[in-house]
Amino acid sequence: MPGTNLTREEARIRAELLRVDAYDIELDLSAAREGGTFRSTTVVRFSATTPGADSFIDLVAPSVEEITLNGAPLDPASFDDSRIPLPNLAAENELRVVADCAYTNTGEGLHRFVDPVDGETYLYTQFEVPDARRVFANFEQPDLKASFTFTVTAPSGWVVVSNSPTPEPVGEGDTRVWKFEPTGRISSYITALIAGPYVGVFDAYENGGQRVPLGVYCRPSLREFLDAEAIFAVTKQGFDYFQEKFDFPYPFAKYDQLFVPEFNAGAMENAGAVTFRDQYVFRSKVTDAAYEARAATILHELAHMWFGNLVTMEWWNDLWLNESFATFAEAVCQAEAPGSRWPHSWTTFANQMKTWAYRQDQLPSTHPIMAEINDLEDVQVNFDGITYAKGASVLKQLVAYVGQDAFFQGVQAYFKRHAWGNTRLGDLLGALEEASGRDLKAWSKAWLETAGINVLRPSITLNTDGEIESFAVLQEAPALPAGAKGEAVLRPHRIAIGLYELVDGSLVRTERIELDVDGPRTEVPQLVGRHRPAVVLLNDDDLSYAKIRLDEDSMAVVTENLGGFTESLPRALCWASAWDMTRDGELAARDYLSLALSGVGRETDIGVVQSVQRQVKLALDAYTDPDWREQGLARWAAAAEEHLRAAEPGSDHQLAWARALAAVARTDGQLGLLAGLLDGSVEVKGLAVDTELRWTLLARLAATGRADEAEIAAELERDNTAAGQEHAASCRAARPTAEAKAESWAAVVESDKLTNYVQEAVIAGFQQSDQRELLAPYAEKYFAAVKGIWETRSHEISQQIIVGLYPALQVTEATLEATDAWLASADPAPALRRQVVEARAGVERALKAQAVDRAAGAR
Ligand SMILES: [Zn+2]
Repeated sequence: MPGTNLTREEARIRAELLRVDAYDIELDLSAAREGGTFRSTTVVRFSATTPGADSFIDLVAPSVEEITLNGAPLDPASFDDSRIPLPNLAAENELRVVADCAYTNTGEGLHRFVDPVDGETYLYTQFEVPDARRVFANFEQPDLKASFTFTVTAPSGWVVVSNSPTPEPVGEGDTRVWKFEPTGRISSYITALIAGPYVGVFDAYENGGQRVPLGVYCRPSLREFLDAEAIFAVTKQGFDYFQEKFDFPYPFAKYDQLFVPEFNAGAMENAGAVTFRDQYVFRSKVTDAAYEARAATILHELAHMWFGNLVTMEWWNDLWLNESFATFAEAVCQAEAPGSRWPHSWTTFANQMKTWAYRQDQLPSTHPIMAEINDLEDVQVNFDGITYAKGASVLKQLVAYVGQDAFFQGVQAYFKRHAWGNTRLGDLLGALEEASGRDLKAWSKAWLETAGINVLRPSITLNTDGEIESFAVLQEAPALPAGAKGEAVLRPHRIAIGLYELVDGSLVRTERIELDVDGPRTEVPQLVGRHRPAVVLLNDDDLSYAKIRLDEDSMAVVTENLGGFTESLPRALCWASAWDMTRDGELAARDYLSLALSGVGRETDIGVVQSVQRQVKLALDAYTDPDWREQGLARWAAAAEEHLRAAEPGSDHQLAWARALAAVARTDGQLGLLAGLLDGSVEVKGLAVDTELRWTLLARLAATGRADEAEIAAELERDNTAAGQEHAASCRAARPTAEAKAESWAAVVESDKLTNYVQEAVIAGFQQSDQRELLAPYAEKYFAAVKGIWETRSHEISQQIIVGLYPALQVTEATLEATDAWLASADPAPALRRQVVEARAGVERALKAQAVDRAAGAR
């Protein structure tokens, strides 16, 4: 019973046997407004290397009406277990499959959404990893590329977008037919269809004789907020930068970007028809960090048009390379593209990507970047911080190692050699070796085939005059968690060392040394005999991937002056190091709070400010001694209020502090301030209390029992949109009553009626760190329900529940014991086990950190 799984071995055998020529796909979406199912007709032509052999094609559908192979009908009842068996293939084959496929509400396959504002129906597809088969029969694996021709029947007046340019629809009456031109040879997972009364804005990318039509789409109810100009500007910078660096023209006929509802990921790189989550169309004021994140996502997806779409991994074990490359590409483009609004993108990379990677790499589930992906279930839980963030960090290190010019030369050769084909890692490394002249086998083994993070520490001794007598960089092997795969190794690191002095209260870099670190101890003779600087910062410029520790003297200076670094990147590195030490129990959570309170006021990078705010809240909730926690929260809440009142009116910092206060407000005065901002009786000069901020304020009031159903319903009436409905669901779930918790639990766990977005909102509202006692009974219910959830819900939906409802707030030995008992008795599938084991690791880490914080309180 393969179910919906497909193994790498099955895919390998099928790829050896088949060469797929072309698909003709007809979809009848004329009754989309009613939902249910739609008619899907696929005709696929393919050849077989061994005539007479058997194979199968993939399909997930409620029913199959017709199967015809080479003119002969096959029994539709042979469709079973998400596959159609194909017996006795000829050298050249034509298969026709007619099926009724289902619309989904989970963001997988063909998602159907009704906008409460206009009552209209909006559809879009999401196929990665294996969900094109929910819409049409196909050989669902990345190395069976083919040309796809879509013919779509849909209500007249709709907009229909796919990989090829949208044709003039034909027909009359209530429906029209859109017949798209065939695509180039692409993988099924990057085909796409977006249909509904979307609205578009158009432009073109022009460069010499080249002209690529550009489109940006969203629902009409978001049109007033769609800043298409800004989106086009970033997109064009990306076209310029990538075409030059890749030395390969954009490979598709046009480039549409569609902001679609209830999208699970950030975006998806469908060839020429990229879909984005439509929270990227900002309904209310957001900070510049949100614009930067959106621009990064735009560039990430654009980079995939070459790396991933033009040249595609053979199998999902190289997913990391696909994602790492696009993640590296987004940052390097922001840093270097002329006119970029975010040239400090490496600060954001250090602040966000690295933090994500370091966290993931210390979980029991950590794995080498080159993961073993034996089947589709393995890959579905592997869109993780190793695949995206560690991989990208290691690519950044590779660029430092071979040099950026050689790196891009290798990439250029790779695109030319493998255009429209499939590759493995070795193909890229081979091209980079040719371009750089460096042997990358040892590098690849150390960095890609082993797990964990090295620690780099300076070892400094001084003579009696205070001059440096010896200076070395010490490297430690990763502390791999119990059960983690692979061996703990030392690695070659190309790093910079920054020397900083305090000048009028500012920390200024006076010197930078770049060197190779290898083995447990690397001497740095250049620094011997020199005066000791105020701060020594290893891995300055963030070239490598390692935990960085400061020597004691540097730490003392940084603790007092973290905000004093004149550059944002060393500040971000020190913030990251302090946070990492807090997570590791090397710095008590209350000391991290002190550091944040002293330094965050001088932090100018808004993305870093918002990260610190989130991390402080997490430290207070999870890592402080529970007996001291309320004191810490009170200090943080008071500081947030002060910063809010002191911030420049209308600034991003002001908005960020308003949100931080809303997350933690606890005194009558603070909650009264939130209520006053909401009802307009109180004003903070320059602070726009707009739609999204109103919901943020209300969420806290609901969670603290100061707003109930009447207030929530009234707010929903003001904002009766899809986003408003999600916020209202979250507020209802946040109320501090046993009834509210029971209702939320039942809606998520005992019913499958919620859409992916509403479910996510309910889970977020349900889990409130101030409501531990109220939530305690749900630990037992969780373990009773989780296996059934995994077995009956779709991948996205079950992942939300398994991760989101784990009793993470119950930081007790009892939670660990209950988890262990469940793991021992439930015999969960590997992908389910992995999610629960990761959640358990969070509780274990929190228990350790709480002990450290308790000891710090006693000192
Ligand atoms: Zn990606």
